[in-house]
Amino acid sequence: MSRRVSISTLGCKTNQFESAAMQERLQQAGYTIVPFAQAADLVIVNTCTVTAATDAQSRNIIRRARRLNPACRVVVTGCYAQVDPDALAALPEVSLILGNEEKHDFLERLESLSPFSETVTVDVSDIETVRSARVPTLISYAERSRAYIQIQNGCDAYCSYCIIPYARGHSRSVAVDQVIEQVKRLVAQRFHETVLTGIHIGAYGLDLSPPDSLLSLLRRIETETDLLRLRLGSIEPNEIHPELIEAIATSRIICPHLHIPLQSGDSAVLKRMNRHYTGDDFRQLIAAIVAAIPDISLGLDLITGFPGETDAEFNNTLALVESLPISSLHVFPFSKREGTPAATMPKQIPQQIARERAALLRALSDQRQQEYARSFVGKTVEVVVEQSRQNANQKGMTRHYLPVSFQGAGIQAGDLVQLEVERFDANGLVGRLLD
Ligand code: SF4
Repeated sequence: MSRRVSISTLGCKTNQFESAAMQERLQQAGYTIVPFAQAADLVIVNTCTVTAATDAQSRNIIRRARRLNPACRVVVTGCYAQVDPDALAALPEVSLILGNEEKHDFLERLESLSPFSETVTVDVSDIETVRSARVPTLISYAERSRAYIQIQNGCDAYCSYCIIPYARGHSRSVAVDQVIEQVKRLVAQRFHETVLTGIHIGAYGLDLSPPDSLLSLLRRIETETDLLRLRLGSIEPNEIHPELIEAIATSRIICPHLHIPLQSGDSAVLKRMNRHYTGDDFRQLIAAIVAAIPDISLGLDLITGFPGETDAEFNNTLALVESLPISSLHVFPFSKREGTPAATMPKQIPQQIARERAALLRALSDQRQQEYARSFVGKTVEVVVEQSRQNANQKGMTRHYLPVSFQGAGIQAGDLVQLEVERFDANGLVGRLLD
């Protein structure tokens, strides 16, 4: 009888990629993947620890898994397992805890686990000692129309609020040839768009011998593969050099969409965050990007309520963001992470104030998202079809990272189609399929 397993994943695209890889290995080993709500013999929870809320969500999923399947085994991995295995080992529901490195041979560790063991097994090594980027290669992407490729892991920036370097270790890159091979494999499977992900993709290649760079990787993907669309995951502002802007502006395949963590627009706050640019540097960067690619989609990350953030400092952030041609904001109230310098900084800001400031920025983001989407009405766009639906109500994603609904029969997920954008209504952009 095949064994039923469900996988729950929290957090970033890198965690999503690693879960997709675990799912693939399980299927190859004869397991049946079932949705979380269905009965399972094994539940894997791939956790995130970027905020206190994700820790709580992880614990909640673990408890629900056991309630749903009293006899199942619960395996917990991911960043929460890496930085705080003891907290998870204290949960009676948990059978096995694996670190982010041990995640790569989870199947072997799982199958060596005694099925009747009542005690929890903790298998978490020191991630700081890991130097090579063991990244699973994925053969397929069952549920997706766009594929992710993890090109890098870890981070050496140590922003003062961030727990990720302690969960993911030092920055390490996947060999260029391995990435190219992965792109070719996905193109052969009709994936027209690939998203390059990692924890700190701007640092890609610096650790390779000889050292390489994200820019040269992008150029090689464009010249050595038949990929039609390439999207960049989140990239740090001080790693967006003029050559990279030029490459995006002149590329046949790189999507005109950047997701950039700004975090704060106030230079004193940025200094306390251990981020190495000023509000003015950021303004000049955005001006250079927009000069080269006028209709680019710009999404920014922002943290509100960082320790010591005064009203004046927050207003500097608001004023900077209001002055920039952004298309969306991802706003996070500061979340104190034990073990980070910011957790012990003086003048911690009440969560209520952090949330109020976040609400102001989110309102601005909603307004800008609508304005940016409306600017495409009347234009022709190319979309990757997200899911194919029987009832001909389709949805696709543009190169500028905008979802567009349209009518179209006989269309498959992953297809590339041309649309004329007819209007923007309560459901967003609506287009008409062009022949
Ligand atoms: S760059 Fe900063 S925020 Fe991003 S993962 Fe590294 S330490 Fe965290």
